[in-house]
Amino acid sequence: MPIKFICKDYGFDCDFVTTSKDVAGAIEEYSKHSNHEHGIEYSKEILMQFIMRKG
Ligand SMILES: [Zn+2]
Repeated sequence: MPIKFICKDYGFDCDFVTTSKDVAGAIEEYSKHSNHEHGIEYSKEILMQFIMRKG
C-alpha cells in the first residue's frame, strides 16, 4: 500500500501530497516540503509515527 503524506491532514492550508511509492521516499519528500514551505523540520521518527497512527 502506498504511503501518502497529505499536508492538510497535519493542519496546513496546503494541497501538497507526496507521490513516492515507498515509505522512505514519502518521508523524505514530506520532510523536505514541510521544511521548505512551512519552515517546520519534522524528524523521520515523527513522520514514521504519523504513518503508524493512521493505521
Ligand atoms: Zn504543505
